[in-house]
Amino acid sequence: MIVEIVNTGTELMLGRVLNTHQQWLCARLADLGCVVSRQVAVADTAREIERAVRESLSRADVVIATGGLGPTSDDLTRAVLAEALGRELVEDAAVRAHIEEFFARRNRPPPPGTLVQARVPEGALVLPNPNGTAPGLIIEIAPNPMRVGGARGWLVMLPGPPRELQPMFDDSVAPWLLRTLPLRSGFVCRTFRLHGIGESSVQDRIAGPLEAMVAAGLDVGYCARPGRVDVRFRAEGESAGRLVDDAARVLDQHVGAFVFGTGEEELETVLVRRLTAAGCTVAIAESCTGGIIAHRLTNVPGASAVLLAGWVTYSNHAKQALLGVGADTLGRHGAVSDPVAREMAEGARRATRADYAMAVTGIAGPGGGTADKPVGTVFIAVAGPDETHVWKMFNPWDRATFKEVTANQAMDGLRRMLCGLPLEPRDVRQLVTPKPL
Ligand code: ATP
Repeated sequence: MIVEIVNTGTELMLGRVLNTHQQWLCARLADLGCVVSRQVAVADTAREIERAVRESLSRADVVIATGGLGPTSDDLTRAVLAEALGRELVEDAAVRAHIEEFFARRNRPPPPGTLVQARVPEGALVLPNPNGTAPGLIIEIAPNPMRVGGARGWLVMLPGPPRELQPMFDDSVAPWLLRTLPLRSGFVCRTFRLHGIGESSVQDRIAGPLEAMVAAGLDVGYCARPGRVDVRFRAEGESAGRLVDDAARVLDQHVGAFVFGTGEEELETVLVRRLTAAGCTVAIAESCTGGIIAHRLTNVPGASAVLLAGWVTYSNHAKQALLGVGADTLGRHGAVSDPVAREMAEGARRATRADYAMAVTGIAGPGGGTADKPVGTVFIAVAGPDETHVWKMFNPWDRATFKEVTANQAMDGLRRMLCGLPLEPRDVRQLVTPKPL
């Protein structure tokens, strides 16, 4: 089955919005056993949209078009493509009721023009949009006049906002694809996420033991992210499940301590799950990360069961007054030091009576570095019921990356403590991080 994606939006062409749909949809479709053969982004003019979709329909069985389903004058996709396919737009009573209810719940009448979204191409399958007002649409084109010999084609239209598109794909499009189209049988794809080890080190350790499986058809992919590596195993055919299971065992044997999750799991999700399962609580004392650890933990539903409190103690005074860090410790070692990180974590734990606490103190830069403690130096502490571990890392990246990478290191440190694994990443020097700007 051939699938193509057409992302519409002038903001994509102007570089104002990163085209995350391309990556997200390709990953989701690959997980379903369907590798996208072509993707294009176009401005949201009638001419560009129609041309791109016609071209895709001349090659593909399924074309997924994103964006332009809203009520404003630049939202042309639905009307342009309905016309191109010779379909009338007809009002769908259920969509109209949904739009009216959507605004009634917000104590507002539908803004002018909003009800245009209830007009859908004749014969289209309407996909509900609980997170917005524009429904998704699937149009079956049978026969498909744009494709030589193509008896049937499908055009799937999805709304632009990711928080609308993603649940709609998972809840409506994926089940429809599985129901309707002959996806490849016996396709298995699993992704594992590792923290604290570099891409090439992972490869060094597993490539040899995987050799026979690769010869039998296993496909191995590595993807490096700031402070993280994703390893993907893919196989097709009758033995696909066994091959991928065997590869997962090899990964576990050789780099298991670095694997924190699977699929799209983030460290914070894993941490909240582990803490919840253990019935344990956590507190956070941040300095240079400015609250990003607390932010990320509170993004996880259910975080309130485990997170008691978080401080952003940027000044020495705050570290002393709120966490009980000693004036003497600060004076003797400086705010960015092993003993201060330790006292921050232990102070946070003491103040909240949490089972665990994380603390970070470092120099994000660009100023403030010394020969002794250059920009990027950070001390991370994890305090638990039995002990406190403090380690030093070097993250000389731009401020945003520094914060993300440091947050990952702190959360992975706590994950390791919870799992009873050695704390110091064994492969510190190999950490995968982007080049400094
Ligand atoms: P709306 O009702 O909000 O107008 P829409 O279906 O018409 O929705 P667009 O207007 O094309 O969609 O896009 C709305 C927003 O969704 C964009 O401003 C952008 O923030 C986001 N968006 C659109 N396309 C993409 C994309 N390819 N990748 C990431 N975000 C996108």
